[in-house]
Amino acid sequence: MSTKRGSGTTPLDRLKTHYDDVDLTCPKCGYEDADGHWRVQTSGKEVHYQHLCPSCGASRRRTIRL
Ligand SMILES: [Zn+2]
Repeated sequence: MSTKRGSGTTPLDRLKTHYDDVDLTCPKCGYEDADGHWRVQTSGKEVHYQHLCPSCGASRRRTIRL
């Protein structure tokens, strides 16, 4: 089994992957949303991430400038 790499990878793809892999633990209640993911929206200059905790409903947002 080989991992596909390097073809069509953009900085945005890397960021998405990054946030999919880490930080899915809610800082409020400590719930680990192992099957969850950050929702990603981009406005061209910035990337907005949002994660909604399925346990307590806490919403976290992050903005990264490209
Ligand atoms: Zn929570």
